[in-house]
This record gives sequence, structure tokens and C-alpha cells, in this order.
Amino acid sequence: MIPFLDIKKLNAPYEKSLKAKFLDFLDNGNYILGDAVESFESQFARFCGTSYCVGTGNGFDALRLIFEAYKINGKLKNGDSVLLAANSYIATVLAVLNAGLKPVFIDIEDATFNIDLYQLQKSETSIKAIVITHLYGLLGPVDEVSAYAKEHNLLFIEDASQAHGAALKSKKSGSFGDAAAFSFYPTKNLGALGDGGAVITSDSNLAAIVKSLRNYGRRTAHTNDYAGFNSRLDSLQALFLNEKLKNLTNENQIRQDIAKRFLSQIKNPLVKLPYWDDAANHVFYLFVILVEDRASFLTHLNSNAIGYSIHYPVPPYQQQALNSYAHLSFPVTEQIANTCVSIPLNPALSESEIVRIIRVLNQYHV
Ligand SMILES: *Cc1c(COP(=O)(O)O)cnc(C)c1O
Repeated sequence: MIPFLDIKKLNAPYEKSLKAKFLDFLDNGNYILGDAVESFESQFARFCGTSYCVGTGNGFDALRLIFEAYKINGKLKNGDSVLLAANSYIATVLAVLNAGLKPVFIDIEDATFNIDLYQLQKSETSIKAIVITHLYGLLGPVDEVSAYAKEHNLLFIEDASQAHGAALKSKKSGSFGDAAAFSFYPTKNLGALGDGGAVITSDSNLAAIVKSLRNYGRRTAHTNDYAGFNSRLDSLQALFLNEKLKNLTNENQIRQDIAKRFLSQIKNPLVKLPYWDDAANHVFYLFVILVEDRASFLTHLNSNAIGYSIHYPVPPYQQQALNSYAHLSFPVTEQIANTCVSIPLNPALSESEIVRIIRVLNQYHV
């Protein structure tokens, strides 16, 4: 069996260094925030090419705290509309809603799985912010969205939770918008051994507010400026993340090398491969293919003992949880939701597994 993802195997190369970090940590006794978190924050800001990083409890909170901070500094207010792609992961949508804002969905382009710029041009003008999710690891249309946001005086926020290190002309994800959210959920390209997240920005005012908000809105030990939250990045996870960050570029390279082989060696007219122009703009958090008859394709994978996942079969606006949006319909988003399959692609795949995945995909027929 080739599992879709074996997280234990993914972390095996770090076993020695993570154990050593844990023993230091246990010994040190400084379990909340402190040097571990500060050190990771400065390393990750540097990695992203931005001035500030504020660690948070998870990726969802990173997004939510960005919105809450903009409400505090007056750039957003309750009820403001936020534009986002109709196929984004539900966390992106829930963060908007939880911050008291109104999600406005637009359809996507089938090649890039991201915001369709033509739809963007004709989208409603009352929006105050635009979020792009670099879905599956592919950087969204950052230059176009950035220009659009400037022209219409909108905030531009990146949900970079699936695209750590994706770059355009060596400028990295998280550095294009006014602010960006990252998740370090264990499956992500930079994954902790538990929950974790971060806000990235070059705006010192925003960074200071988020930093306060994640810790009850406090200014000093006994003074609070805002009605904040508890969403600190766990110190042990920060230590682990700092170790894994050293190897992120290398792991992304391994993902890209496997993707190149999949793209050149999987030749099956029934399997639509993902678009990629061979640049650094895709870090292949997921390798998502499209197949018309998904049920029969999944039977083929099952009978050949290849794991898979589906990202995502139900768009957020069709979820029971968001039933006030059920009247909406986005044809491209729905077409992809009905035909997408994520096949295994991660740095833990062995040579023989890569070869077998390619062979099994080429053998599929109806
Ligand atoms: C993983 C993910 C999140 C949420 O991250 P958590 O750390 O699980 O809260 C948000 N947006 C996207 C696009 C994600 O992939």
C-alpha cells in the first residue's frame, strides 16, 4: 500500500534533532512564548522576505487575527465584504465569518484552480479586502490581484497555508499582500507536530496589534489594550518548526522533482494533469489531477493499493454549515470539485513508489 501521506515517515529524518530539542525544552522550563517562538518568528520572517512574523495557535487564527487587527486599526469594520475564491478551503471562509465580515465568492479558472481574473474585473465594487488562497501549493495571480487591490484601494491578504516557499522571481508567498496567514498543520509543507500558524507582514502597526491580540490583547503583564484571544504559537512547536524550516527549500525541491516526473511520464488521456510552467511558483503541497469518471478511477487506485484524497469534494458555499450561501453556483468550482483527486506526492515517497504511481496511472482505462 502506498498511503496518501505517511506523516511519521515525513518526520523520520528529523527524529534525532527533534528529540534533542524536546530534551532541551523540558530542561529549560520556559514553556510559553519566549526565545523559542521569537527565534522561529525571526527565521520565518526572513525566509519569507518580510519584516514581521507573529506566531499563532493555528492557521485559522492567523487569518482571523489579521481581520481583527484591521478592525482595530480602522481599515475594516464589521459587515465589510471580503472577496475570495469559491473553491477555497472552508477555514478561509470561516475566518472571514468569525471576524464579523461577509465572504463574497467568485469563480475560478480551471487551469490554475485560482481566482478567475475576468470574474475579478466584474466583481462587485463594495468589497474592502481580497483574500487569495495559494491552493495546492501554486502561487495565485499575485501581481494582478495586487494591482487590482491598489487600484480599488482594497486590502490584499494571502492565505499561504498550502504554499510555504512558493516564489515568483525569488519573491516568496506571504510577501505579496498587506498580510499573509500560514498554517503549520502537520501535513503542510512546513508542518509542526501539532497545531501552529503565523501572520506575516511588513506592516509594523499590524504586526504589533496581532502580537497583542494573540495574547489576550495585552500590552504589559497587567494591562490590556484590546479584548483579545488566546492563540499563541506553542513554544515546543516553534522549536520543531525552526528545525524543519532549515530543510524546507530542499523538501520543496524534492516535491518539484517528483512533480516533474509525474508531469512528463503520466500520459493518459483520461487523466488531466495540473498546470505548471516549471517555475518556483508551485511547491506541490498537493498534486491534483482531474478525472471525468472519478468513481471508476478511485476503484482503480483502490485495487492497486494507492492511497488518495480529495481536495475538496464539497465547496464551502455548499456546506450545511454555510447554508445561507446554498443558492450560489460556480460552474468551474463545481466541475473541479466533482473531478479532482489528489494522488500521493511528498518527500517521503521512495523511488519504487514513484515508479509504481506513474505505472498505475498510465494503466487506468474505462
Ligand atoms: C490548512 C489550511 C488552513 C487552516 O489551518 P489550521 O492550521 O488547520 O487552522 C487555512 N487555509 C488553508 C488554505 C489551509 O490549507
